Amino acid sequence: MIVQTPQNRLGLLIVVSGPSGSGKTTLCRKACEAGEAVFSVSCTTRSPRPGEVDGKDYFFLTETEFLAKVERGELFEHAKVHNHWYGTLKSHVFANLQRGVDVLLDIDVQGAVQVRACEDELLKKCFLDVFILPPSVEELRSRLSGRGTEDPASFELRMANAVAEMEHWPRYDYTLVSSTREEDEARFRALIKAERMRTSLVA
Ligand code: 5GP
Repeated sequence: MIVQTPQNRLGLLIVVSGPSGSGKTTLCRKACEAGEAVFSVSCTTRSPRPGEVDGKDYFFLTETEFLAKVERGELFEHAKVHNHWYGTLKSHVFANLQRGVDVLLDIDVQGAVQVRACEDELLKKCFLDVFILPPSVEELRSRLSGRGTEDPASFELRMANAVAEMEHWPRYDYTLVSSTREEDEARFRALIKAERMRTSLVA
């Protein structure tokens, strides 16, 4: 009897959410730099922060350009976060999953709800979501104020949104309570490595 062993697999669709200041973006970027997955560069209507590069950190669009993409059905999910539009390009997701490339989406809780609700069979096989939870609200406040990238009004808006966002963690497959940067990275990478062995990913 010839026993067939799997030759190919689908990519993982790793959705990561967590409040601003949870360390989520750094965690996602580090994992992608280490070759664990490709980062899905989102579209946004917010202005670039110092050092951010168009096409690498985000595709920075005007509201008209963004809404035209929505109209043409180019976005996989989109949501308004902190008064700006954010959305994931379909073109960055499906082709990679089919080719066995793991794709990482750093998106907010509204976006995660939309991805989770997607009925696509391929997607259901590939999907997992992780919530990055700060150890406490106080720690979050200190991390966020340390960034110094926000004016006081948008800082308070982000804090209020962060606390509301934190209520969503029970809906995620995994919850990573943030500790040190190194520890978070090690645990996140271990999670991705284990998930790659899912039988449902065998193509
Ligand atoms: P920031 O402006 O700090 O880069 O991101 C603000 C929030 O928008 C973060 O929670 C981030 O995860 C979320 N975000 C970034 N890209 C997307 C996206 O494509 N879709 C959705 N729904 N949220 C996004």
